[in-house]
Amino acid sequence: MIVESSNSRHYECCIIGAGPAGLGAALELNKNGITDIVLIDKNSLVGGLSRTTILDNARFDIGPHRFFTKNKEINKIWHETLGRDFRPVSRLTRIYYKKKYFSYPIKPIELLMQFNMIELAAIFFSFISSRLKKNTKINNYEDWIVHNFGRKLYETFFKSYTEKVWGIPCSQIGAEWAAQRIKGLDILEIIKHALAGKRNKKIKTLIEEFGFPVLGAGQMYEAMADTVTSRGAELKLNSKVIRYNRKDNTINSIDLIDAFGKEVTISASHFFSSIPMAHFFKMLTPADSEEINAAAGMLRHRDHIAVNLLIKKAPLFPDQWIYIHSPDLQMARVTNYNNFSRAMVKDNNKTALSVEYFVFKDKGLWNQTDDSLAQLAEHELIEAGLLEKNEVEKAWVVRSTEAYPVYDSGFQKYHALLKSRIDGFSNFYSIGRGGTHKYNNMDHALLGGIFAARNYLKAAGSPYSLWDINSDGGYLEGG
Ligand SMILES: Cc1cc2nc3c(=O)[nH]c(=O)nc-3n(C[C@H](O)[C@H](O)[C@H](O)COP(=O)(O)OP(=O)(O)OC[C@H]3O[C@@H](n4cnc5c(N)ncnc54)[C@H](O)[C@@H]3O)c2cc1C
Repeated sequence: MIVESSNSRHYECCIIGAGPAGLGAALELNKNGITDIVLIDKNSLVGGLSRTTILDNARFDIGPHRFFTKNKEINKIWHETLGRDFRPVSRLTRIYYKKKYFSYPIKPIELLMQFNMIELAAIFFSFISSRLKKNTKINNYEDWIVHNFGRKLYETFFKSYTEKVWGIPCSQIGAEWAAQRIKGLDILEIIKHALAGKRNKKIKTLIEEFGFPVLGAGQMYEAMADTVTSRGAELKLNSKVIRYNRKDNTINSIDLIDAFGKEVTISASHFFSSIPMAHFFKMLTPADSEEINAAAGMLRHRDHIAVNLLIKKAPLFPDQWIYIHSPDLQMARVTNYNNFSRAMVKDNNKTALSVEYFVFKDKGLWNQTDDSLAQLAEHELIEAGLLEKNEVEKAWVVRSTEAYPVYDSGFQKYHALLKSRIDGFSNFYSIGRGGTHKYNNMDHALLGGIFAARNYLKAAGSPYSLWDINSDGGYLEGG
């Protein structure tokens, strides 16, 4: 219920979203002496998609969150923020496909052992024929993968997982997605190095080790929030922004519904917004042109369900997470938090798992009850041989909207239009994963916030382009 509207005071900087991007901006502003800051989030916890929820003495992230960056500054910030609580973790992840487990990245020797001669011949000939084809037109993700890996490997190791994550056929996903995510992955390089018994140094860093806070990903962002609030920033949680009020190309204030259901107006000189860019245009008052609103309506997101399970047994399996490529199972990934940090679960005899489903909100699985989602997750874990009956002690469901910005074919045109419109505002920065509609990781989100703050401060090296962070796809994360 909305109570009356009231005016609150004016701030120098208003930051919307207390995820990595918003906190990055707050930290950088604070560091440079700006303390008249308000940081607003609709959640009850900071960290955004990188938050950690505590349920019955066990800690659950929103799926697996490994900390890896090629940016030295971000690495330093992570280490300085948590000190000894930020620890290296040796990575172990596998792919589950039709009752078989494969290492990630796939080892050629496993292909030889897990597939029969006919399947191997199909993999080999489809790879060779793709590579020999000249002048191949790359129009979409499917074309890109088939061209680089061959159709058989595409069907085995890319198609099903990718379509689970994105909910659209690979032929409708833009080729730029593959270019951003897996550009650095060359199958010939991997085979060459595997046969020689060594690994590509760049891939090794990524694959074999990552950093992780001892109490879950959210610990990092809770510590950052503590730093900025101790330096004078105000943090308003459980506060949902509903309107961005503008006069021409200047944002003057925002309206939000606060933790008590009261509508509050907050005015500021500058705004740093990390909510999805399409939402910003939907909330802009007065509304922008029809063309801009139509473009905002074309940006799509994939939503996310994490079924968090406390299991009565430990250890369960050694991986931090397992990609589920089998098309007969709806789950896309299973995360075992005990293998990120033993401190995530208080009881040594229990395991904290997340089973992830990628969905479109208000459709299909999204509308199922928590109980039926918990049953589905349990059933699928048993099918995959990861669990036995009656081993689940308790289950909780966490739904996240706008978890993945979709790069469907043609989205670039709308994206470009919205970017240039946002750049036309005199006092507004759109930052982070949602704010740029880019598949950014935590490091890129944090950096985006820091760069936006530097642009505002007119710091040395500014202006930074907030849209180009992570345009280099030199490292991999997903399946
Ligand atoms: C399943 C999954 C796994 C991931 N794994 C990794 C990984 O291994 N490594 C990695 O580096 N990254 C990973 N990521 C990405 C990482 O979570 C994001 O890059 C990061 O959280 C983005 O930070 P952000 O601040 O830009 O956005 P967010 O984290 O989305 O924060 C935005 C904030 O804005 C708030 N907000 C939105 N609308 C409103 C409103 N109207 N009013 C007030 N507040 C609002 C939200 O509540 C949220 O807190 C993963 C993401 C997902 C979904």
